[in-house]
Amino acid sequence: MLLLNPGPVTLSERVRKSLLQTDLCHREPEFFDLQDEARKRLVAAYELDPAVWSAVLMTGSGTAAVESMIAGLVPEGGRLLVVENGVYGDRIAQIAKQYGIDHEVVKYEWMQAPDIDAIIALLDTKEFTNVAIIHHETTTGRLNAIDQLSRACGERGVGLLLDAVSSFGAEAIDFDGGGIAAIAATANKCLHGVPGAAFVIARRDALAQAASRNYYLGIARLAKLQDARNTPFTPSVHAYYALVEALREFEEEGGWRARHRRYAKLAEQVRAGLASLGIESALPPEESSVVLRAYRLPQGVTYETLHDALKAKGFVIYAGQGGLSKELFRISTMGALDANDMDRLISSFVELLR
Ligand SMILES: *Cc1c(COP(=O)(O)O)cnc(C)c1O
Repeated sequence: MLLLNPGPVTLSERVRKSLLQTDLCHREPEFFDLQDEARKRLVAAYELDPAVWSAVLMTGSGTAAVESMIAGLVPEGGRLLVVENGVYGDRIAQIAKQYGIDHEVVKYEWMQAPDIDAIIALLDTKEFTNVAIIHHETTTGRLNAIDQLSRACGERGVGLLLDAVSSFGAEAIDFDGGGIAAIAATANKCLHGVPGAAFVIARRDALAQAASRNYYLGIARLAKLQDARNTPFTPSVHAYYALVEALREFEEEGGWRARHRRYAKLAEQVRAGLASLGIESALPPEESSVVLRAYRLPQGVTYETLHDALKAKGFVIYAGQGGLSKELFRISTMGALDANDMDRLISSFVELLR
């Protein structure tokens, strides 16, 4: 079965086998070597300076990292502007509300791009310590343009908190060009690991001002103990094995730039194949990520029919979220997939629509 959903991904044999390594106690030096290697490789994935940036690991899915970042890195008494144009922006607003963080939400239609000029104007009329935005809004496949916003945040001393859960490892992220204070991501999307290990990469100066609003996901304590080759709780040891192996494979394959090129090719192959069958992408390619694309369901075909027929042929596709579930389906090209797999996918569509 090939997974075309936005994580967990189809694993390479190499990553799958890494799960079968020796049993490991998380209080032994062997575990801390593993933790150190994962943290080092995550910072190196975007060639970041380890004196400025720190990767903080935690056990949980991508949302754990987002929650840890929002709850910790909006300082005590801070004020957060949340940009929402999909499910994941809405999730950040809910996290802020749950923690009682003073915040304001700027909302856009889910098929729309955020109005960056209007957001920057808001930063000049009201006081905010932080802005949170989704990089790749997986709801629609839109890659939100963040560079101008990031620069504007940097110029105003506002910390940008970026949900890069479905872009880290495959899209450009301008860490040093502006106002990014931290990003949150996970092992099991563009990095091709397994679910269970998530992480925040934060500026060390942002970590030094972290608030302590939560217990298990408290980012300041996690960072401090990990820097001291320690851990407060039992981590998902096997997920760390897989993450480290996936990061070695990632580096050997040429890092995020090579992964970007590979996904772009596969996504274009799928787009062109489906277009030839009259299935249109929901967004133009230049507004989409290379990681996932949303497509309009063919006339008279429900998502359930399409999903079940493709699953019988060995492909798991993904539904639209919320109100979009009746209109859209989504195809992600993350994971150990190649051009032959996408050829077979398009042939399956041809057979089904005949
Ligand atoms: C997948 C994803 C998440 C996290 O979802 P989990 O189910 O917790 O892994 C968060 N943000 C975005 C943009 C995502 O694509």
